[in-house]
This record gives sequence, structure tokens and C-alpha cells, in this order.
Amino acid sequence: MKKLIVGNLKMNLLSPEERERYLSWLKKELAGRKDKHSEIVLCPPFVHLEAFKKWNNRKVRLGAQDMFPESKGSYTGEISPVMLKNLSCEYVIIGHSERRRYFGESNGAINLKIASALKNGLKPILCVGETREEKESEQTLSVISNQVKEALLGVSRAKAEQIVVAYEPVWAIGGDKVPTANEIMEAKLLIRKILVDLFGKKYAESTPILYGGSVNTKTVGGVCIDSGMDGVLIGRESLQPHELVKISGIINDSCVLK
Ligand code: PEP
Repeated sequence: MKKLIVGNLKMNLLSPEERERYLSWLKKELAGRKDKHSEIVLCPPFVHLEAFKKWNNRKVRLGAQDMFPESKGSYTGEISPVMLKNLSCEYVIIGHSERRRYFGESNGAINLKIASALKNGLKPILCVGETREEKESEQTLSVISNQVKEALLGVSRAKAEQIVVAYEPVWAIGGDKVPTANEIMEAKLLIRKILVDLFGKKYAESTPILYGGSVNTKTVGGVCIDSGMDGVLIGRESLQPHELVKISGIINDSCVLK
């Protein structure tokens, strides 16, 4: 299984010119690399998906940052999974902590989105993780457990292989603090156990479990490689093509060395 390097570009790249500068810079950075063990997935804002599709760089897969669970109809302002599929998206981030925080997304709403993504042939990247208060009151594992179980309620075994889970402690996002490798491993073991309980060993073992939160070239060794994660979800650093490609290279090279 290739390691996944997911770049969440969030609400950035404000104009077509900025997007084009980003894409041509990224193309240059990618030109020198032949990473066989890692794969970059970029999730730009919806308005840029078509341009990313046309850019069509074989070293980058495409994803979206969110979606609505219905396929079509009177849902002003929303984006359908069918639209994402038609724009060549393979992945869609679901339940990012910013969606939970600013848009009040509940585990129930996230569950509907996961089911719809899977039904429409998209691979959902389910984000879970505790807030600072929850960490300080030692609720980390129970929060992760509830989030994973409620988001995946009713998902069939046959679809399990399409799911990606990202452990993203909310307190580590957008700052400069990251969990220890042991804390990340503990979260990963818990998530894997829940997946095994839900889907059985055969399917659950192939589900990638990523780490997200302040990943950069300095932290990636501890938060991904030492903690045995299947990849990373990157916010800020994904806006810097040289950093994104460097992180992907570090993870790729760690697989070669094994
Ligand atoms: C994120 O928002 O998912 C994220 C990981 O952001 P950052 O890398 O900036 O901490």
C-alpha cells in the first residue's frame, strides 16, 4: 500500500493567477521525483477542481474538501458527490475539525456524507481527533472511538477498503505542537481495533490511517514514520509545493530504507 500524502488547500489560492502559479511551481517540484511508495492527493477549493483536473499531472490524485450527501436538487450552495466524481475526484475529506467547529457538523451528518461518498464511488477521508479540553480531561480515546464508530455506522464490509481515516488532534492543527509518536500510535491502534470490530481483520488491515496536524519536514519523522502511520494530512505546508514534495519524498524514502 502506498503512503498517502493528502494536501488540504483549504480556502486558499484566491485567484486563477494564484492557482496557476501554484500548479506550475508544483509541476517543477514534482518533475525531479519518482516516488514509488508515496502518493500525493490534493484537495483544492471546489472552484479550482476543474483546473486541477485539466492540469492532469499523473503524480497527483484529486480530492475535495467536503460534499453534500444528496446527489442533486434544491440544496443551495452545496456540492454533490456526483459533481465531484465528474471532475475526476477520487477522494473527499469528510468531518474535518473546521467543518465540525464552524458548521456544527455532527457525527450523524458525517455518517450520511460517508455513506453517500461510498455509494458514489468516492474514497472518504474521515477526520477524527480530540480538542485540547478533551485531551486535558483524558477523553482522547473515548472521543476518537465515538467519532469513528458513529461516522462509520451502517457502512458495509464490502465498502471498507475504500475508507481512509485521518487522526487529527484539533489542538495540533495550525499550531506548532504535535503529539508524541506514542500518543499517535495509541490512537492508531484504537482506530485499527474499531475497524477490525466493524469490518473484520482482512478489510480493516488495508484501511490507511493517516496523521494530520502541523506536519512539516521537521515533524514528519516523529508523527508519521516513527509512529507507523500510513501517511499524512497536511494543511499549511501543502501551500508550499517544495515543502509538500519534500515531505512526500521523506516518507517515500523511509519506505525504501526499510
Ligand atoms: C488540517 O487542517 O487538517 C491540518 C493538518 O492543518 P496544518 O497542517 O496546518 O496543521
